[in-house]
Amino acid sequence: MASIVLKNKEEIELLRESALVVSKTLGMLASEIVPGITSLELDRLAETYIRDHGAEPGFLGLYDFPNTLCVSPNAQVVHGIPNNIPFEEGDIISIDCGAYKNGFYGDHAYTFQVGNIKSDIKKLLEITKASLYEGIKSFKEGNRIGDLGYAIQNYCEKEGYGVVRELVGHGLGKEMHEGPEIPNYGKRGRGKKFVNGMVLAIEPMINQGTHKIKQLKDGWSIMTEDGRPSAHFEHNVALIDGKPELLSTFQYIYDAIGISSIEENPFRKEPLKL
Ligand code: MG
Ligand code: MG
Repeated sequence: MASIVLKNKEEIELLRESALVVSKTLGMLASEIVPGITSLELDRLAETYIRDHGAEPGFLGLYDFPNTLCVSPNAQVVHGIPNNIPFEEGDIISIDCGAYKNGFYGDHAYTFQVGNIKSDIKKLLEITKASLYEGIKSFKEGNRIGDLGYAIQNYCEKEGYGVVRELVGHGLGKEMHEGPEIPNYGKRGRGKKFVNGMVLAIEPMINQGTHKIKQLKDGWSIMTEDGRPSAHFEHNVALIDGKPELLSTFQYIYDAIGISSIEENPFRKEPLKL
């Protein structure tokens, strides 16, 4: 993984712009996710939307990935390649999206539900998303990478869930994947110290069952080894004045599906102007 590159105020504003292109794209997709639609249809919508907003798809062609979105249903953890299989009521769909604008990348993810889902799967989504905020909370001056990983791991393992080990969060900037690696597991007090100007993509990938994964023959898709569902939520966060500040938002998604949430408030200096 590339080295750690600290960002100044101007660079963080550019990163925020790129992150918000992704946030808006996910918000646009949120109202399209219904039984019968396919991931390839969503992929085309997302590519057009990103280009219409003055950006480039961040994943398309990166490491030779063939599409704009990674779409990973149910037991797929991440890196699913869009296809022609229609979504069904009760599915969960993790969508990871990247955008490149003004020389900087945005990169975040949300796990959507298709219609109504079983209560145990709903709980997996809630706990995984809550663990993301536990991680963000610990991205502060004085803490280390191990503190963040511990916060996520401890929160999820208490529920009996499996924390994926092989895939991790990362620094974000002029490269999609910069240092440092940000594992979703760890020991308190271990690893590099967080410093102002770091911008991270924090992204717990949490399985209902075992933490073990396997890769499909397509060379991309990662699945849970036991076939049980997996969830993935990702935000882009900058360390400013010793505190975490969100650059991305799920608010466009919440507006699209009609829910209200105050979960992001602690990580903003001022309310979002959408
Ligand atoms: Mg991502
Ligand atoms: Mg990422």
